[in-house]
Amino acid sequence: MFIGHWAPALVAATDRRAPSLGVLFIGAQLLDWAFFLFLLLGAEHMRMVPGITAMNPMDLYDMPFTHSLLGAVVWSALFAVAVWLPNVNRRAALLGALVVSSHWLLDLAVHRPDLTIIGGPPKLGLGLWNMPAVEMPLEIGIIAAALLFYLAKTRARSPAKSSRSALAIAVLVLLLAAVQAINWFGPQATEVSPGTSWLAFVAYGTVTGAAFWLGSTRDAGSATRQAPGDYPLSD
Ligand SMILES: [Zn+2]
Repeated sequence: MFIGHWAPALVAATDRRAPSLGVLFIGAQLLDWAFFLFLLLGAEHMRMVPGITAMNPMDLYDMPFTHSLLGAVVWSALFAVAVWLPNVNRRAALLGALVVSSHWLLDLAVHRPDLTIIGGPPKLGLGLWNMPAVEMPLEIGIIAAALLFYLAKTRARSPAKSSRSALAIAVLVLLLAAVQAINWFGPQATEVSPGTSWLAFVAYGTVTGAAFWLGSTRDAGSATRQAPGDYPLSD
């Protein structure tokens, strides 16, 4: 799972009290941001084993802090506090925590058994990365459905912003398609290096930047289309 992880962020962002779309995009990949940082620092480990799954060569044999269920709960709680602090908004904190935890559940569907409950065996993973005919349409399907849901449940912040919003949508879609295409069809890494982490940071950072931009052009709720001349008093 790669771009599919951002689907829960798009859905959560349709709530009026949710954190911004960009913040939710960070939350959706927080466990991977932390993993690639820990990989760089030597606190967690992976190696490349060609053929270990049909779709990618990652042997994620050591990631107790970021991809254990306990770790996911702790990261979700930390993220919730970070989101809650600025506005003391409990709903924003809850939505943020749910988006962070969704990462572990989506990983559970696709990873080979390399996820843990508290860092040691048993190792869990349903292994959809071995079934590209299922995983690929699933990943594209959930992100496309979430994006359509987001667009249906939000609207451009002002008429002046509607063309900027349309451009931001196009940029986000192109970036999502590009990073996923490179991930699926680009050359596969044969070894882990600092570049592995930096590449991930650039990919996640670029998409997240586009999400901050899109979020700044749209408001949650109030998606009902109004006929010209229809000015509701209570909105
Ligand atoms: Zn992950």
